[in-house]
Amino acid sequence: MEFWNLSSEKVKNLNRNTPLIIPVAAVEQHSKHLPLATDSLLLGEVIARAQKQSSQNAYFLPLMWLGNSHHHIDFAGTLSAPPRVWIEILSALVENLIGHGFRRILVINGHGGNSVPINQSLFECRQKYRKLEHLLLLNATYWTLGDPTQTVLNWTQTEMGHACEWETSMMLTLQSNLVGDYQSLPDVPMQPAFEMAERAWITQERSVSGYIGNPKDATAEKGECLFDIFSHGLVELIRKIDSWNGTPW
Ligand SMILES: [Zn+2]
Repeated sequence: MEFWNLSSEKVKNLNRNTPLIIPVAAVEQHSKHLPLATDSLLLGEVIARAQKQSSQNAYFLPLMWLGNSHHHIDFAGTLSAPPRVWIEILSALVENLIGHGFRRILVINGHGGNSVPINQSLFECRQKYRKLEHLLLLNATYWTLGDPTQTVLNWTQTEMGHACEWETSMMLTLQSNLVGDYQSLPDVPMQPAFEMAERAWITQERSVSGYIGNPKDATAEKGECLFDIFSHGLVELIRKIDSWNGTPW
C-alpha cells in the first residue's frame, strides 16, 4: 500500500506499529548498456512484486531516487547528493515518521553507495531517540534478501556487481528495450585486492567502462529468478517486522 495515497486523517488513525518502508535508490551511470535509472527501476519492480504477492500490513513511501553516487560522478549523467546532505535528508524523513508516532521503519535500498549513509543515519536517529522503547529502524539492500546462486541457473557471479550479470538480467526482464549491447562485453572481475579491509574507491579505478561483473552472461530468465527471490525475501522481512513482539533482539 502506498503511504502518500492515504489522507492525513487515515494516517492519524493508523496503528503506530504498522511497518513503514522508505525505498532509496539512485540515478547513475550503468556503463553503455543500461540506463541511468537502473537502480531505481529494479528496486521499484522488487517492491511492486512484493506488494502483489500478499497484502502486507505495511505502507511504502515514494522511492527516493537521488542517492550517494559520487564514486560514479565522473561519468556523464550521474546525479548524486553529497553524502552528508543525503544523510540529513534521510534522517529528517525518518524523524518525520517517528514524530508522527511510528516505530517500525525499514529503509529498503537499491544502490550499494547508499548502504553506509543509511546505516549512519539510522544509527544517529536511534541514539537521538534513545528514550523511545520498541523503536525498530532497519536497513536492508534488496539483493541480500535471498541467494539466487542456489538455483540451477548457470550463474557466473556469486554476488551483485555493477551493470553486471544480475542487473542486466533484471533489466532484460523488466524493460529490454532499454538494454544496449551487453553480449560482447568482456568480464570485469570483482577482484577485491585487499579482502581484509574495506577500500574507498572511485569507479574508474576498478573499471574504465563503468561496469563490474559479467554482463554478457545475463538472461531474462535469470532476471525473472532474481526478481522472484528478492521480492519474496522482502515480503518475508516485512512479515517479520510486522509480527515483531517488541523484544529487544
Ligand atoms: Zn546499479
